[in-house]
Amino acid sequence: MEALRLRVEPCTKCPALAATRTQTVFGVGNIYAELMFVGEAPGADEDRMGEPFVGRAGQLLTRIIETMGFKRSEVYIANVLKCRPDMPPGVPGNRKPRPDEMATCLPYLIEQIEIIRPKCLVALGATAMEGLTGTNAPIGSLRGRWHSFRGIPLMATYHPAYILRNPTNSEKRKVWEDMLKVLEQLGRPITDKQRGYFLNK
Ligand code: URA
Repeated sequence: MEALRLRVEPCTKCPALAATRTQTVFGVGNIYAELMFVGEAPGADEDRMGEPFVGRAGQLLTRIIETMGFKRSEVYIANVLKCRPDMPPGVPGNRKPRPDEMATCLPYLIEQIEIIRPKCLVALGATAMEGLTGTNAPIGSLRGRWHSFRGIPLMATYHPAYILRNPTNSEKRKVWEDMLKVLEQLGRPITDKQRGYFLNK
């Protein structure tokens, strides 16, 4: 994994991204993880810190991971894109990675997945699913179902940023039900308390 990181670090396959990034954002966590999360691309916070999912959406992802009964350091977290998508100077926010950028960067993610060979993959949002599988289907029709990536069971769910924008119990429950399916797939024990989160509130 370290050899791969050293190849990703100086990558200039997307010249515009290489010119505007602070650094590449490789991935973080346990390279022997049974569970791996895949997001779309680093945002401004991740570009600054050099670690995926450290901004507000990342803090929510960490809570989801911990509520599942894992430490953040026990799973592996990576993105389809290793560079922050460039923004026009002075324009705040983040843009979605383009299909050509995802196609260029995907081989790195595939190598990460093949090194880890997790028991289960979770794609966070429609863009991560598009990057991994090429689908253009809406996340509402993909989530909560098992897909497959190179023989590894792949669960699709909403991106945590979607929950930050729609913080209702019914939307949180959908993500949580997807995570309960992941825990079942991993053969992890599930407590009654875990089963009941975000129900009837
Ligand atoms: N959103 C993502 O998809 N990935 C990150 O690393 C942070 C936010």
